[in-house]
Amino acid sequence: MGKMDWVREEIEELKRAGRYIPIRVLQSAQGAWVKIDGVEMLNMCSNNYLGLANHPEVRKAAIEAIEEFGVGAGAVRSIAGTNELHIKLEEKLAEFKGMEASLVLQGGLLANLGTIPVLVGKEDVVFSEELNHASIIDGVRLSKAKKVIYRHIDMEDLEKQLKEHRKDGKKALIITDGVFSMDGDIAPLPEIAELGEKYDAMVYVDDAHGEGVLGSHGRGIVDHFHLHGKVDVEMGTLSKAIGVMGGFVSGIEELIDLLKQRCRPFLFSSALNPGDTAAAIKAIEILERDDSLVKKLWDNAAFLKKGLQDIGYDTGQSKTPITPVMIGDEKKTVELSKLLYSEERVFASPIVYPTVPLGTARIRLMPSAVHTKDDLKYAIDAFERAGRKLGII
Ligand SMILES: *Cc1c(COP(=O)(O)O)cnc(C)c1O
Repeated sequence: MGKMDWVREEIEELKRAGRYIPIRVLQSAQGAWVKIDGVEMLNMCSNNYLGLANHPEVRKAAIEAIEEFGVGAGAVRSIAGTNELHIKLEEKLAEFKGMEASLVLQGGLLANLGTIPVLVGKEDVVFSEELNHASIIDGVRLSKAKKVIYRHIDMEDLEKQLKEHRKDGKKALIITDGVFSMDGDIAPLPEIAELGEKYDAMVYVDDAHGEGVLGSHGRGIVDHFHLHGKVDVEMGTLSKAIGVMGGFVSGIEELIDLLKQRCRPFLFSSALNPGDTAAAIKAIEILERDDSLVKKLWDNAAFLKKGLQDIGYDTGQSKTPITPVMIGDEKKTVELSKLLYSEERVFASPIVYPTVPLGTARIRLMPSAVHTKDDLKYAIDAFERAGRKLGII
């Protein structure tokens, strides 16, 4: 027996259980259509909500920044890696979000891993929503704070947990995704902010699927609910609707100042590259001046949902463009996705247990502002043929 034989066994086990995920390789830029294995496929599963990942102005901003500043940041932010582009992006994000200050990091996952342990430690308590993103779960683990899970969207349960466990920590933090990525529903942030006030708990929202989607000009969930000043920490990503790469945290100036002293991805991992930083600045400028992409996204989402419902599909409880096509059975869902891929040239990912509870398998569709109505009609027709073939509709 070799020392590494367990790796092969583990892979085989994943394959046997049908949980081994093949990695698709794209041979083109992100967009409504992408090339995979030499074939043009309708892309229904990217988070590039607004098409900014391949927007000509955003591309140009990245190229110009590379010409001027080169490709690498050269160091961690706290030594020699902070470039004036980072400062400009941080000012822009704070203004866009209506918060005092922002800190830019290399990704949304790192923003959560780095920020949560600065806010709470082993003498504190975290109230974490049941369906929170993996990066929040890991950030809470790293913090060593006591963790109390409250039920999805259930404010009675959150209050019950606060009553019972608030005393378990010196400081307390309520943390939630803003938009839940598997169902497209929205956290009841006004109620959460009130409970935070009532029980002296900080409120932290992860707006990864809200930026560029919710609020005026895509300013996100805090703007959507008009909660400026009532949410303590707004974390976000530059890698989804913004179309680039990176993450950020917004809050009061002193919090951002403290993060610059304590946040480990800021101190121990090299800074975001100049090209990405300049591209993110441009993407936000585009959003500020014009909300037509955001409007197109919502219009497309409504068209897609209605089209699927009209042919007999259940599109779940989504309140955002995220469109889960609820199938239920795991095997049927995987079969439908395969059929769409191989016979209809529709690229749409199946989401099955353990990502979602058993018996709630679905295909999650992500419409974007760069899809045309014809593209969406193409997807709906494909779902109709494939669904009939498999006896789903
Ligand atoms: C995608 C996502 C992240 C991670 O963001 P990256 O910038 O891709 O690292 C964090 N939180 C949520 C809720 C997400 O959906």
